[in-house]
Amino acid sequence: MEKILIIGGVAAGATAAAKARRLSPEAQITMLEAGPDISFANCGLPYYIAGDIDSRSKLILQSPESFDEQYGVKVFTNTQVIAINKEEHVVKAKNSQNGSEQNFEYTKLILAQGGLPLQPDIPGAKADHVFSLWTLNDMDKIDNHLKNNAPKTAVVVGGGFIGLEMVEALVKRGLKVHVVEKMQHVMSIMEAETAGFITRELKAFGVGVHTETAVTKIDSNSVELDNGKKLDADMVLLSIGVRPTLQLAKDAGLAIGEAGGLLVNDKLQTSDTDIFAAGDMVEIEHRVNGKKVRIPLAGPANRQGRIAAENALGGQHSYKGAIGTSVVRVFEAVAGTTGLSLKQALATGMNADAVVVHKEHHTAYYPGAETVSVMVIYDKETGVVLGGQTAGYKGADKRLDVLATAAATKLTVSELADIDFAYSPPIGTANDAMNMAAYVAENKMSGYGPSILVSELDAYLESKQQVIVLDVRDVFAHQKSKLNGAYHLPLEMLQPNIERIPKDVPILIYDETGKKGHQAVRTLLGAGCKEVINISGGHTSLQRHAAAAGFKNFSMTLLPIEKKSTQEKVLEETETNKNVSTEELERLVIDVRTKGEFMSGAFPNALNIPLDDMMSGQVDLGDNMDREIIVYCASGARSAYAQQVLMSKGFTNVKNGGGISAMMSRY
Ligand SMILES: Cc1cc2nc3c(=O)[nH]c(=O)nc-3n(C[C@H](O)[C@H](O)[C@H](O)COP(=O)(O)OP(=O)(O)OC[C@H]3O[C@@H](n4cnc5c(N)ncnc54)[C@H](O)[C@@H]3O)c2cc1C
Repeated sequence: MEKILIIGGVAAGATAAAKARRLSPEAQITMLEAGPDISFANCGLPYYIAGDIDSRSKLILQSPESFDEQYGVKVFTNTQVIAINKEEHVVKAKNSQNGSEQNFEYTKLILAQGGLPLQPDIPGAKADHVFSLWTLNDMDKIDNHLKNNAPKTAVVVGGGFIGLEMVEALVKRGLKVHVVEKMQHVMSIMEAETAGFITRELKAFGVGVHTETAVTKIDSNSVELDNGKKLDADMVLLSIGVRPTLQLAKDAGLAIGEAGGLLVNDKLQTSDTDIFAAGDMVEIEHRVNGKKVRIPLAGPANRQGRIAAENALGGQHSYKGAIGTSVVRVFEAVAGTTGLSLKQALATGMNADAVVVHKEHHTAYYPGAETVSVMVIYDKETGVVLGGQTAGYKGADKRLDVLATAAATKLTVSELADIDFAYSPPIGTANDAMNMAAYVAENKMSGYGPSILVSELDAYLESKQQVIVLDVRDVFAHQKSKLNGAYHLPLEMLQPNIERIPKDVPILIYDETGKKGHQAVRTLLGAGCKEVINISGGHTSLQRHAAAAGFKNFSMTLLPIEKKSTQEKVLEETETNKNVSTEELERLVIDVRTKGEFMSGAFPNALNIPLDDMMSGQVDLGDNMDREIIVYCASGARSAYAQQVLMSKGFTNVKNGGGISAMMSRY
């Protein structure tokens, strides 16, 4: 009879035990866990501290008793394995409560020991008000500290996903929080512009973000940074990474791999044929480039646990590798990454490139549309998707999963472009952001739509003697924030001014998202300009990159960050039609865009009457039917409609001013 012995009882271990039982009703299955709990939801710990999960017991998915009852698996908690005797097929374990030692025999052993948070070697790191979060016990300590000591300020050391989830949790518990990150930006595994989206969200919620700096000392109410700053900190949360738990395996003479994890083959078998391993402690192949990596995440741990169990029972299931899909929600913002980042792909010598699009997550006309951002990273020659990143308030997770599927199955951008994604107005758009990203990548590969990433701009500018930067957005957008030194020429004005544009000087174009920028590129290339390049993702990407990493070779005005609160959303009082009397005005200019669009900038003294209000008759424009009325909108389409509506009401002198840029240049 097989004796399956599992060391570690959380994600990989508990999954392996349950799978082993499903595969073999007769095997003897035993699970040894050093801690007091098995199968708890460590990913849920920050949300309990935040108050999002109201009951601690919801985090405990199984108890030793329920596991035995449900699966017939004998579970020993508080039982730490201290030695493995490979030859005898026996492990020795020590009970942490009574100190007793016990031997357990196995025919097949599965190691699922996970990892532990790294502890920095800085003065004060062991003080009582300094925590890390890994177990239910850690969570209780933090929760008790918050309840009993009512700290007002906190510093979170490390801006990775656990660190940021804890930032949110502590803000929700009413603390003023700072996050300190040694790398250039938080979420260092992401590209700067993706991280910039998260950075802006953190700042919106009042979080102090300190990057490219490290904590050098922890005092009772503050921490010191290596840049000389001192931050108030009634409590400190350390979250600087995870190291695999390997001592036992090393002592047993099991091979360690090049990425610093326990070496396993594709059957998740260690260098000893009767010992399998899964989860945070192992190194596995990256599914995209085949390199050895450690990807300490719950998804891979669960899948590896299943496969290790299957193979321990004689199966031949090959693990295909992990792709590193990880996603974080920070307050309301969601960002994720999958496959290789561009940095990683280039660093491993791949011929990689990337494009970015920002598009509404569902149709713009259906209420509640939010921008979702997609970066697709692909091989320049073959177009095979290598990875990608997404960001947004809504819909970022869905696109990330599509990118993960594309990268895992080695789809090309052209294949991605042709996929039909779920669409109805409240759900998506007929041309999803994924399709758009794939089109843009195809256009870049073919040379039809040359573009450059914001992360490449500094190097590009350094490589050129002279570059013209052209902002083709409307005047209000340009006034609010721009690349300093950029010329402003709204897209509608490009054709009329085409002769004035030098043809031999390289031109960089940007608009709001990259879409109109592409149109401008085509116009200028068509007019004979030799080198015209669109800034991928436009001003949105520029803003985000500037927020996370800044630029060396130029400056830009950053858009103000709207303050948000976890208590209630702070809404600015707005009056859209301040002090405008329709009777007083000789010439009436009506902006028929929505209130939101109007507030982002409008023609001087324009009256805002959204087209819907105009059509439903909710407007009084007085009795002077012959007065001059000019209507305008964003593109000229809604205003054409408005013109018809007003004329049908009897106004005789109604002109369509067109889009906002045309309006500004005409009047
Ligand atoms: C706060 C937090 C939030 C997270 N959020 C996410 C998330 O959102 N998404 C995501 O994908 N991942 C997340 N993770 C990571 C995820 O939880 C881990 O990748 C996953 O738990 C790894 O599973 P594992 O079984 O390999 O290791 P673990 O879950 O760490 O379990 C290993 C177990 O082995 C036991 N053990 C070790 N040595 C011995 C020994 N000698 N004898 C007996 N027992 C031993 C340990 O006590 C431990 O309980 C999060 C982790 C934490 C801590």
